[in-house]
Amino acid sequence: MPYKNPNYYKEYYQRNKLKFREYGRKARKKHRERENKRVYDWRKKNYEKYKDAHRKHAKKYRGKNKEKIKAQQITQQVKIPKNKLCDICKMYKAQEKHHSEYNSPNKLKFLCRKCHKNITPKPTKKGV
Ligand SMILES: [Zn+2]
Repeated sequence: MPYKNPNYYKEYYQRNKLKFREYGRKARKKHRERENKRVYDWRKKNYEKYKDAHRKHAKKYRGKNKEKIKAQQITQQVKIPKNKLCDICKMYKAQEKHHSEYNSPNKLKFLCRKCHKNITPKPTKKGV
């Protein structure tokens, strides 16, 4: 009787770890595909509703992030100079534009991907 051994399932899991992991991966993938299809179908079916919701969300976003959007619009017009090196490390080619402050969008920095990733503030948890 396997039940007599309290570690039976633990050991069973250890022995078949890879199998379980593989199974989980496959299940998640399958689920993701199904979920994507479901969302896609829903949007197709309720196109007007989706569009409306999207519009509302965009409007809300614009109202909330006026400065950010303004800064983005200015940024879009600015091109990164050719052969420009990153403003921070001066080692890699600048590939991205960065705003230090949204309310002064003219203060643009040209950064490489790595430095930009480091400098961008991560979303903080609530209450921190
Ligand atoms: Zn850099």
